[in-house]
Amino acid sequence: MKGTPVTDEVIDYINELFPAEDELLRQLRVDAEAAGIPPIAISAEQAAFMQVLLRGAGARRVIEIGTLAGYSAITMARALPDDGELVTLEVNPLHAEFASAQIARAGLAHKARVLTGSALDLLERDLAGSGPYDFAFIDADKPAYRRYLELLVPMMRSGGLIAGDNAMAWGRIADASTTEANVIGMREFNRAVADDQRLQGCLVPIGDGMCLAVVR
Ligand code: SAH
Ligand code: MG
Repeated sequence: MKGTPVTDEVIDYINELFPAEDELLRQLRVDAEAAGIPPIAISAEQAAFMQVLLRGAGARRVIEIGTLAGYSAITMARALPDDGELVTLEVNPLHAEFASAQIARAGLAHKARVLTGSALDLLERDLAGSGPYDFAFIDADKPAYRRYLELLVPMMRSGGLIAGDNAMAWGRIADASTTEANVIGMREFNRAVADDQRLQGCLVPIGDGMCLAVVR
């Protein structure tokens, strides 16, 4: 084993020490599941990590692709200054509506808004020229990640960060025999980040992995 294995015990220790998941976010997970929304939000330790990243980058403007129930959007909006802005894109109107209500409940409606629609359409039309952004979080349909990256890089400020979630593809990222489109999509995205001369990247094995890059 290279590196230190991250056992459940260690994860509990991390989350007790650096608790980014408060009662509101805990309840959000419960209510989302009751509403039939899949339990695929970022992990609590990822939430703490992202908040450190956002504050470290001095992020004011954030774009997210894939809102789900609003867990990561609320997490990120909380790490922005009061006049910061987060826009999050969601194709499923039920998810978008649920997340909007949670954002309002969290008292973040003044800085976070959900746009309902296909992320590709929104990026290419409504949001064309809406940059520069300080931070972009990609966490939606995996086969489209590479396309999102292409559209987002020119929308970022120099020094801005792009993060792609599920960079370890549910543990299958290094399984060369897989034919699963989501795994292949993630592998192509990681490769695109690694090869892009406009970016300096790395892969952080937290949660299901975050591929993280700074725009030069
Ligand atoms: N970022 C969320 C989890 C997102 S799960 C969190 O950590 O809390 C992925 C979400 O992307 C789902 O809600 C799904 O409906 C949405 N999605 C899938 N394809 C999409 C697309 N083409 N455009 C916008 N959203 C999409
Ligand atoms: Mg994810």
